[in-house]
Amino acid sequence: MIAKKALGLPLKGLRFAIKSGDTLVKTASTQVTRFKTRFDEKKAQMALDEQPVAKRNYANAANQVDANAEDSIDMREFEFTKAPINWIPAAILVATPIAAAVITPWYLWTHEVSAPVWGVFGAFMVWTGISITAGYHRLLSHRAYKAHPIVKNFLLLGSTLAVQGSAFDWVSGHRTHHRHVDDRLDDPYSAQRGFWFSHIGWMLRNYPSGKFDYKNIPDLTKDRVLQIQHKYYGLWVVAMNVGMVAAIGWLIGDVWGTLLIAGLLRLVLTHHFTFFINSLCHMFGTRPYTDTNSARDNFFLAIFTWGEGYHNYHHFFQYDYRNGVKWWQYDPTKWLIAGLSKIGLTTDLRTVDDTTIKHAEVQMQFKAAQQQIDTATSTGLDLPHAMKSFQDRIKFEYDAFKQTVEEWQSLKAQTIAMKKIECADRLREVDDKLKHDYAKIEQKILEHNSNLKTAFRSIGANEKAA
Ligand SMILES: [Zn+2]
Ligand SMILES: [Zn+2]
Repeated sequence: MIAKKALGLPLKGLRFAIKSGDTLVKTASTQVTRFKTRFDEKKAQMALDEQPVAKRNYANAANQVDANAEDSIDMREFEFTKAPINWIPAAILVATPIAAAVITPWYLWTHEVSAPVWGVFGAFMVWTGISITAGYHRLLSHRAYKAHPIVKNFLLLGSTLAVQGSAFDWVSGHRTHHRHVDDRLDDPYSAQRGFWFSHIGWMLRNYPSGKFDYKNIPDLTKDRVLQIQHKYYGLWVVAMNVGMVAAIGWLIGDVWGTLLIAGLLRLVLTHHFTFFINSLCHMFGTRPYTDTNSARDNFFLAIFTWGEGYHNYHHFFQYDYRNGVKWWQYDPTKWLIAGLSKIGLTTDLRTVDDTTIKHAEVQMQFKAAQQQIDTATSTGLDLPHAMKSFQDRIKFEYDAFKQTVEEWQSLKAQTIAMKKIECADRLREVDDKLKHDYAKIEQKILEHNSNLKTAFRSIGANEKAA
């Protein structure tokens, strides 16, 4: 598709330039007209707002149908500016970092903090962080695997220790985030509203996008344990963060030190490390699998987020229990889930097959190639000749790739059909053949990848030459 588009580009640079210049002028004038109409409408609306209500209902009735959709967007956008403060979360989210920033340095300066306290701090950092990623996120939000009740409840307690809302709220919001990612009105932590909003701002006020009705979590609302967690959430939070932490502090002989370091400091750090996923992971990094949303893959953020930094992959293949899908990518949550499956504590680990993943990667490579060609075209330099060779090359690669994907798709369809009708022996035979064929296809896709890289290099070289 992409390369087809590439081929469709006019080869004669001049003709293209004239044509695009023409289109540009046309687009610009359309935009001006649209802007003017919109401005006039706004003015009329403002005048209308001054009139008494009864009059307002009759006036402008003819325009109402067309304007309805836009008005509701405007209205919803207006609601964002008037959103009331979300007092309890706001108080916690503002007070805890300030308290931690003021008290911790003073305490460390004036008191000796023992090794066991730091040990509990470290253990709680891991427990809290990984409970959110493996528990609330991959287990409950995406059902990426199944967990033994021991694991599930241990992660649920850790998630409660994290003070990020009940499982109902967290999961409902997260599923909405995936469904409406980047939508300014419907994504509860839309990165399109900027760093502050997506990091923490979305929780400080009662925004319309943050109201969850739990329709998207029918699987959770039936769960008795989660119902209890939701109903008595405040109690659980205090019991875990104050009761349990103080009790452990008493056991290791330093109640205040443990409350401050393993309680408050740990809470603030895990809060913001998780918030990075919604803010920075939608801003900085690469997009190897899709550019249809703002999610990025970022190794540095993966370090702070227990592997969730590979957010581009996650938004494209959300049901995979891995976020860092390559064996070498830093994803401790993936290692934990896979490790627990070895002793039977986690089962049904869902993965996307390698061929599908590579397909996405190669398609993004083609898209990048298309963009390179577009950029090269827009420079208006001596391109027609050079362009021709790039386009031929990209088209050749794309056709080969498409053929490979078609072969693979028909193979997959065959396997599904086979599984229905053939006996076990025959199926094993087919499986062996499939394994072999998949390996061949994988090799082909790898070759396409390296051929594309060569094509990119030649684009770069020719651009420099031009
Ligand atoms: Zn996201
Ligand atoms: Zn997710």
